[in-house]
Amino acid sequence: MTKISRRSFLKWASTIGALGLFGCSAGHRATRPRLNQARVAVVGGGFAGASAAKYLKLLAPELEVILVEQHAAYLSCPGSNEVIADLRPLDELRRGYGALSADRGIHVITAEARSVDADKRVVFLADGSSVRYDRLIMAPGIDFRWEAIDGYDEAASHLAPHAWKAGPQTTLLRRQLQAMPDGGVVLITAPPNPYRCPPGPYERASLIAHFLRRHKPRSKVLVLDAKTKFSKQALFLHGWKELYPGMVEWISAEKEGKIERVDAASRTVYTEFDEHHADVLNVIPPQKAGRLAHQARLTDESGWCPVDPLTFTSTQVPYIHVIGDACIATPMPKSAFAANSHAKVCAAAVIDLLQDREPGPPALINHCYSFLQPDYAISITGVYRYLQAEKQLEAVSTGETPMDGDRRKEAEHARSWQKAIAADAFG
Ligand SMILES: Cc1cc2nc3c(=O)[nH]c(=O)nc-3n(C[C@H](O)[C@H](O)[C@H](O)COP(=O)(O)OP(=O)(O)OC[C@H]3O[C@@H](n4cnc5c(N)ncnc54)[C@H](O)[C@@H]3O)c2cc1C
Repeated sequence: MTKISRRSFLKWASTIGALGLFGCSAGHRATRPRLNQARVAVVGGGFAGASAAKYLKLLAPELEVILVEQHAAYLSCPGSNEVIADLRPLDELRRGYGALSADRGIHVITAEARSVDADKRVVFLADGSSVRYDRLIMAPGIDFRWEAIDGYDEAASHLAPHAWKAGPQTTLLRRQLQAMPDGGVVLITAPPNPYRCPPGPYERASLIAHFLRRHKPRSKVLVLDAKTKFSKQALFLHGWKELYPGMVEWISAEKEGKIERVDAASRTVYTEFDEHHADVLNVIPPQKAGRLAHQARLTDESGWCPVDPLTFTSTQVPYIHVIGDACIATPMPKSAFAANSHAKVCAAAVIDLLQDREPGPPALINHCYSFLQPDYAISITGVYRYLQAEKQLEAVSTGETPMDGDRRKEAEHARSWQKAIAADAFG
């Protein structure tokens, strides 16, 4: 007869426990009455919010999950630099919410959330209705600091697009590139930290150079930076030299000083020490958390939302969690990969908290790819752990594509990742 040791029994028992936590046993579900009476509302159906809603339902199918998103479909920013460079249509970046409602049982409401009453635990929607919650997960993404650069407000962005939210701004920038004369200058202003997608402006410069090399080979791309260094810098500089010699120029804040003023009509940027005229001007303005986060008093003086990354609970307002670009999860960058990672940790923690259980310390991952041309990509990666005493994250391991790494393979992985993350969040 096989004897089961106490040790292997405990191991076996903990496996069953883990299965129960993931909602695989109907019997176990019956022992979690709080979950089948609880309601979690998620505001914002981007990579963060859609992933959170889906993983809440995967972990606890009996939980009521309501996702409030202002648009009927989502347009992904990852891939949008390829749209600008005419490498793919914008429609390929569109994701619907049908699978989340039909297959996952999430109640999706298409409406703008206008305000939150944190005392009564209610979200008020633009159509006059409201959503009560036991816990609220806020994932409103970013907004722009329109007041930060003199002359660059929302109206100016219709002349000099930011294209930092995918949609009409993306197609406007693409149209302007197509219409510009050969021999012209494309000027990109890169924002100060922190901002959405740290390597994004440099991927954009690369793919625009790729477009120009094919269609307007006497043209130039100038990146005027508010910073003195940037993500994957050595890899980008190496790639520009190799692929686009003399075509892409990066100007550090050390050389030019602050970007002081923009005249969108004449496409001119004034810095502390100089002025630059462009044929196509792409201003990526300084950023802050999405508007609703400010209304709900979730932001601090930085304009972003402080959280305890153990659970992504706001440190300012009870029963509200903030994930994705809107939260401060340093040293993680603001990326779709990171947003998806926050969402999973937050979903598991919310389920623990609803059952008065202490969530365990999380580990999070980020991995960001950037294309320099369609068959040439680089990436950066980081693993983060939770520091109990500081209530903060710390990078335990980071790395990037080695100088002699296989850029073609990275490009294949980047493409697979884009498909996988979309399926993980919206599928
Ligand atoms: C050009 C570019 C390229 C990028 N490439 C990559 C990449 O390769 N890899 C990567 O990991 N990341 C990339 N990113 C970053 C990535 O897009 C963001 O980090 C990610 O979208 C953050 O997800 P989020 O859910 O926090 O915000 P968002 O994706 O912005 O989603 C927020 C959602 O909330 C909704 N919303 C906001 N306010 C309300 C409200 N009041 N009521 C209802 N709904 C509301 C919005 O409509 C939106 O759908 C890129 C970004 C850019 C700009």
